Amino acid sequence: MGLGTILLVQLYWMHGSSLIYKISPSKLTYLSTNDQSQGGISTSKLTIDGEQATLECELAKSPSYSWPYCGISINLGTSDHQGVNLEKFHTIRMNIDFEQLDSDADPSLRFYLRNYNEAYSTKDNEYTQKYNGVEFKPGTGQGVIEIPIANLQVMTWWLADNNISIDHSAPEYTNTTKFELATGSGHHDGRYRMVINSIEFVGHYISGEKLMLGLLVFWVSLALIYSIVEIRRSHQLILQAHFRQDHLKKLNRSLKEQNVHFAELANRDALTGAMNRHSIREWLDVNFEKEANTAKLLSVLYLDIDHFKHVNDEYGHGMGDDILREFTMVVLSALSPSERLVRWGGEEFVVFCPGVPLSDATELAERIRHKVEAHIWVHGDALTTSIGVASLGNERTNEMLTRADEALYLAKRKGRNRVTVSE
Ligand code: GH3
Ligand code: MG
Ligand code: MG
Repeated sequence: MGLGTILLVQLYWMHGSSLIYKISPSKLTYLSTNDQSQGGISTSKLTIDGEQATLECELAKSPSYSWPYCGISINLGTSDHQGVNLEKFHTIRMNIDFEQLDSDADPSLRFYLRNYNEAYSTKDNEYTQKYNGVEFKPGTGQGVIEIPIANLQVMTWWLADNNISIDHSAPEYTNTTKFELATGSGHHDGRYRMVINSIEFVGHYISGEKLMLGLLVFWVSLALIYSIVEIRRSHQLILQAHFRQDHLKKLNRSLKEQNVHFAELANRDALTGAMNRHSIREWLDVNFEKEANTAKLLSVLYLDIDHFKHVNDEYGHGMGDDILREFTMVVLSALSPSERLVRWGGEEFVVFCPGVPLSDATELAERIRHKVEAHIWVHGDALTTSIGVASLGNERTNEMLTRADEALYLAKRKGRNRVTVSE
């Protein structure tokens, strides 16, 4: 885009300035002028030779007109009051030779662009057409000279003679009817020759200011559109970010809930929901392994389902699992909230009874044994359990558990479905 702009400006400088308006005798009518219309006696003679126009003239002061002159008038438009618009042009290029034949003087030449405007011009008076002009010395054999149109001024004598108001006093080229060349001020009598080799106007197809303004408007619009798009995009991104944040918050909340759930699961046996050995270990360490706590009461019941292998063999492993779950429920129903049921492994369970003496623990073991025996099981068969009981003495909890296990072993030896106490 930026490259395009640079290219456009480059092209403009190379070709935008190439609007050319040529003035030549083959296209337009050239007329010779002199002071005879004002009562003078100067003479002039115009000859056209191809693209070249030559004016020979003899200036002479007459008693009735004191400012002798001669020149060439070229009609640009279709009539005396219908001209052409020269606003797009900024320069006039002329190749003109002008000399006094009977003297060494370097005479000056005036050139005018006459403009007709109804605000100050009238059709019947040619003098009311504005004189935008400049005076210069073209010399001879100088080649092409360039005159910026901005250098032209409205002749002060014309402004005064026609009482022109200030708002019409500036040069104007909207309706230029004539291109005029005439001998300059202060010329003396004598013979003059004016040779017009070429005249052309140079202009812009589009003015530089318009081009720059156009580009400016283009870039500002582009910047505006870009900003709007960017603002919309940011808005969209903010909305998306909010949405994501909400979503993450929700996800986080549910993950926290899940974590609590999993933390609980980590402390429990997956099959039966009873506590696992790992979780009871912490509880034992904190409450019963320290010196100061040795005075505390703790009893344990070591349970083992009798002939459980038979359940698996007879009814399948799935039924065995169901019986393990049912066994857990049956034992739990006999426990108080402070007593803890731990699946020790396989079909072995340990009940921890804090603050319970050995006698009460033995009674509890009997109650459980009865419950198991009396329960009607899902597989429709009878089921019994053997239980070893022990209380924490001056020992580590592991030693107490070993004693309970030994008591259980004894119960099995004695014929199962019984409670044995380790004293
Ligand atoms: P005893 O009276 O001497 O205790 O006999 P038992 O058959 O109960 O003892 P044993 O140790 O010989 O067999 C225990 C059986 O328990 C063996 C094993 O397949 C079964 N078992 C252990 N854990 C699970 C379990 O999670 N699910 C099922 N279905 N069976 C289990
Ligand atoms: Mg066993
Ligand atoms: Mg068993």
